[in-house]
Amino acid sequence: MKNTILVLCALATATAAIAQKDKQKSEKNATIWKGYPVARQLATYKTLPLKTDISSLSEAEKETLRHLIRAAKTADDIFWIQAWGDKNVLLSDAKNDTVRRFMELNYGPWDRLNDNGPFVKGVGDKPKGANFYPKDITREEWNNWDHLDKNNPYTIVQRDVRGNLVMVPYHQAYEEKIREMVKHLSLAANAIRPEDEQFAGFLEERCNALSQSDYNKSDIAWLGLLKNRLDIIIGPIENYEDEFQGARTAFESYVLIRDMAWTGKLERYVSLLPSLQQSLPVATAYKPALAMNSTQPVVPDGNAGVQAIEVSPAVSAQAARPGSSLAVFDVVYYAGHNNAGSKTIAVNLPNDETLQQEYGTRRSQLKNVMQAKFDNMVKPIANLMLSEAQAAKVNFDAFFNNVMFHEVAHGLGVKNTVNGKGTVREALGAGFSPIEECKADVLGLYMITRLLESGDLEGNVEDFYITFVAGTFRSVRFGAASAHGKANMIIFNTLVSKGAIIRQKDGKYTVKVQDMKKVISSLAAELLTLQGDGNMQGVANMLDTRAVISDTLKADLSAIEKAGIPVDLIFEQGADVLGLDK
Ligand SMILES: [Zn+2]
Repeated sequence: MKNTILVLCALATATAAIAQKDKQKSEKNATIWKGYPVARQLATYKTLPLKTDISSLSEAEKETLRHLIRAAKTADDIFWIQAWGDKNVLLSDAKNDTVRRFMELNYGPWDRLNDNGPFVKGVGDKPKGANFYPKDITREEWNNWDHLDKNNPYTIVQRDVRGNLVMVPYHQAYEEKIREMVKHLSLAANAIRPEDEQFAGFLEERCNALSQSDYNKSDIAWLGLLKNRLDIIIGPIENYEDEFQGARTAFESYVLIRDMAWTGKLERYVSLLPSLQQSLPVATAYKPALAMNSTQPVVPDGNAGVQAIEVSPAVSAQAARPGSSLAVFDVVYYAGHNNAGSKTIAVNLPNDETLQQEYGTRRSQLKNVMQAKFDNMVKPIANLMLSEAQAAKVNFDAFFNNVMFHEVAHGLGVKNTVNGKGTVREALGAGFSPIEECKADVLGLYMITRLLESGDLEGNVEDFYITFVAGTFRSVRFGAASAHGKANMIIFNTLVSKGAIIRQKDGKYTVKVQDMKKVISSLAAELLTLQGDGNMQGVANMLDTRAVISDTLKADLSAIEKAGIPVDLIFEQGADVLGLDK
């Protein structure tokens, strides 16, 4: 019999993948090429070097890193082909450096943060199927095409000499580039093998996968990697680039270095979940006992470190899936899809639902990029929106802890309703995701408050609270359509209505910390009760009344645009930026 596993990020199991692009569309409509404000659009991105401290890496690790970065560059080349075609032809057409840089950022002549508006004369609209399908394919032809596996994510669709549709697997379509990628990954495996046999083994599995367009075995090997210092995500992964069918996957790569200090911290915090669960301000039925999953590894190779088990009530098949393990990395190289337009700050993989059911997922928080976004976006927004004294308390350490405790707090509360309505997810339907995200935000702050009181966490509670509110302004800057945006607004509006956030006469906001502490407790109870009761009507009321941006706040947020605070980042990256060049 299986136990019920509390997943760390329940949202992760709801969606096939959160390669959380943190992507926000500009509210302007696509503009025609003529007079396209390329310089102005480029200026909404801030350019900075992507770095981390590599001084403690061994020589073998540094050598491995060089090969991993070279492998990642080939993923970048393939993504260019997938998104546009011949990169060199396009770039040689650029009439100046600004246009060239904007093409590189967008991997083509269409502005990704502006509804793919074309910014080069004569290119027309971006094909919905990017370069995965013949340019002249119609919806009708596609629908009439009788092919059992036509949505295979690792193939492109072409025409044969007679004009009929055929599928070509990636390892043939991009043969030369894949061979180059495999070569560098093999060299990386050889370099790291004396120090990390398991990681070398994964790299070899990945080479096999790329050579055969068959990824399951290497994905399973990757899920088992829990202590490796270096890591890489590489291959065809997300399907957003294919807007024709949403099927074909785009090449990308992240080259990663694990944050060892956070690995230990997370294990400790997750081990405190059972006692924190009991401290929640609700009746016992709404906080079933948790026990740590120490006896039974959930994922092969013993991925038991950050899991908790809900001891009762009875298990439902849906809740019995393995959880999401959580880890912290610095990124040293982005390539391909993830480097196009806005930059990802967290990635949850693999996307294959069958693998997720059996093995769970791995969520990686990308800390150095979160810091870059914090410094260039959250902090300046805080300075605009909060009173001066409070803006000064907004800091990255609090910001990062808030995010991590949000993830851990998904493990608190109930997964099953207390009144026989099945799982909370089933009972709440479409309302589940925003309420679950809201719960994770609120219980994350609740955990932080308790752990500060018990001395398990260092810092001032006001820093965490004020930084949380500053993060809200950033996340709803372009609207509150996402589950996270709705969650943020529920909390913000509740705090305002209870007098814990006050808008001063000058339009700046202040947080009343002691009042906020009380609101966190009462809102925690409210959310846990809505979930436990499977109260769909109550959730709908909450979303209608509180998951909205008031006109006052909307007007205040417009100051962010006027101040020219960046929309996203461009990284200067590579072995030279890291100081790895020999
Ligand atoms: Zn979440």
